[in-house]
Amino acid sequence: ALLITQRCINCDMCEPECPNQAISLGDAIYQIDSDRCTECVGHYDVPTCLSVCPIDNTIIPDPQHPESREALWEKFVELHH
Ligand code: SF4
Ligand code: SF4
Repeated sequence: ALLITQRCINCDMCEPECPNQAISLGDAIYQIDSDRCTECVGHYDVPTCLSVCPIDNTIIPDPQHPESREALWEKFVELHH
């Protein structure tokens, strides 16, 4: 899964673009639900939230949730079966 860091400026560009509804506005900044983030595996070649985010290095790999491509694919199948 990916992680939104404190660099987020709450521009709301990413939330509507997520194919898994994994992004929402948290207490202060936007946040990613790691249970729903497939890093866009199954939908896009690159994470679409990263593509649209205007602030560099705001969205990063979540160090708490490292996942193999196979695990991300299984999550995609589970979410969309
Ligand atoms: Fe959603 Fe893809 Fe970003 Fe994960 S990487 S939060 S699935 S847009
Ligand atoms: Fe925050 Fe980037 Fe999402 Fe904008 S696109 S809300 S700056 S994470």
